[in-house]
Amino acid sequence: MAATHKPWRATVLTLFPEMFPGPLGVSLAGKALALGLWALEARDIRDSATDRHRSVDDTPAGGGPGMVLRADVLAAAIDAADIASGQPETRPNNRPRLLMSPRGRPLSQSQVMELAAGPGPLIVCGRFEGVDQRVITARGLEEVSIGDYVLSGGEIAAMALIDACVRLLPGVMGKPASGADESFSEGLLEYPQYTRPQEFEGQPIPETLTSGDHAKIAAWRRAEAEALTRARRPDLWAAKNGGQKPPKDTTKG
Ligand code: SAH
Repeated sequence: MAATHKPWRATVLTLFPEMFPGPLGVSLAGKALALGLWALEARDIRDSATDRHRSVDDTPAGGGPGMVLRADVLAAAIDAADIASGQPETRPNNRPRLLMSPRGRPLSQSQVMELAAGPGPLIVCGRFEGVDQRVITARGLEEVSIGDYVLSGGEIAAMALIDACVRLLPGVMGKPASGADESFSEGLLEYPQYTRPQEFEGQPIPETLTSGDHAKIAAWRRAEAEALTRARRPDLWAAKNGGQKPPKDTTKG
């Protein structure tokens, strides 16, 4: 295939480049990586350390436990990634610059779709107590969280984000339709799935699904998706229905 433009590319800045590609090197994402449908660059933040101990962190100003990633080292690592990048359009300063962070905006499928449609992000992985605020400001890092819990580093979070993007890239998933019909794509959780055998421990596959009636199947799936979303994710359901709050919260009028 004569590629006229560079493939979608994730550049990861980390203290543990050996963690990559890790799980991104197998299955769907791994095959696509081998085929050149996307590219992964894991860069060692420590390569930008300047002192003879190659130190990347220091104690927090104001005191407290743990260590903080230094602004100067991290900024140098971001700038080095920028310079190393060939084409102007794939330079990190023309790409989303993300910092994985529990304080960030929660990652959503719509943000994943946006990121997958662009050139691919530069992603900074924090460690220890986090990173010096000044580099976040100076390099315009957008903080992204993968959930309300604290990991020991940003790498697993970065992998989650990259995996979610890569499966949406053209040619990565078997059928183009399989990305459009799943959880969150229409603000709904996905309907339950079944496959053979026809009966499992006394439970048959719901009759509608084996009826061959496509309109009935679509209606059944839609109803199941709506019921599941209402029951499990009243927040999603409310957002889908014009942002109004679930019934029990509307008492204030
Ligand atoms: N002291 C920080 C947590 C640091 S955890 C705080 O309380 O906010 C160390 C690193 O792990 C972070 O810098 C970040 O890069 C990553 N990390 C931890 N939890 C995360 C989450 N929920 N989403 C994304 N990244 C996370």
